[in-house]
Amino acid sequence: MITHLIRSSDYDSSLVTTNCSTVTNAHLTLRVRVHVVYRDPARGQTTVSDGEGPPVPVLPWEPAFRSVWGGLFKRAVENTFKNKLWLKPTGYWGCDVPAGPNPTHRPNVKCCLFIKLVSASDDPHLTMQVHRTNLPPGQIFRSFMGRHEGELAHTDVFPEVIHPAEAHVQVVAAHEFAHFLGLSHPHCRSSDIICYGSTAHQRGDLLGDGNRVEAWHARPWQLRIRRHLDHYGRAHRWTVVTRRPVPERLPPNYVPTTTSFGPGGMPAARRDGGVE
Ligand SMILES: [Zn+2]
Repeated sequence: MITHLIRSSDYDSSLVTTNCSTVTNAHLTLRVRVHVVYRDPARGQTTVSDGEGPPVPVLPWEPAFRSVWGGLFKRAVENTFKNKLWLKPTGYWGCDVPAGPNPTHRPNVKCCLFIKLVSASDDPHLTMQVHRTNLPPGQIFRSFMGRHEGELAHTDVFPEVIHPAEAHVQVVAAHEFAHFLGLSHPHCRSSDIICYGSTAHQRGDLLGDGNRVEAWHARPWQLRIRRHLDHYGRAHRWTVVTRRPVPERLPPNYVPTTTSFGPGGMPAARRDGGVE
């Protein structure tokens, strides 16, 4: 049996199987409610500090820019992960098609992300402060993101050259959002410079100084899908691929060891022959 919607304090998720076909995969969407707080001197917030450098003066927001910033954040982060990651089952997971006794294909699961911008009263998963500053030359501000709160600069939604010598470009908001999803830097877990990568290739990773989405970034979806499935789906591992896989063609005359339930269906018997 598939649980199609999970509500959780870290983020919600939906597993949609109704569109599964011989050519279409299922969708697992992490659904995050984000509340953006705009720091503004008019509200008494005159400086901001990342805990490392000296406090930096906060500038007022132009209303027109502030009104679109949340949308820029949402698109920048969602697009970073869009059409990049899929989970491939190593066995039956409850979604063979067509439904019935003679399935021919086994769909995979596409990893999707949906950010909903909400107010403070809408039970946000993530509350994020964002500020405008003019950093003095040579000073940096390190944005950060925890499991429920974060701090970004207004420029973090735009691609920036993070590592000029190696020309790594990054949308910092997407890097920080990956931290929110539970991912660490590629080389080590702290924020020491070495943790962003020990090689140029590693530094090109989204969790390093770059924007490259890698298979290991699917970890939040790999962990979450187990909660959507019963023991049929939990019995095997999910491998990650970074190019769209077509549903696997099952062997000719494939006979399922359990009744095929198809999208949205209910299991009738266990693989070991026992009745559920
Ligand atoms: Zn980081």
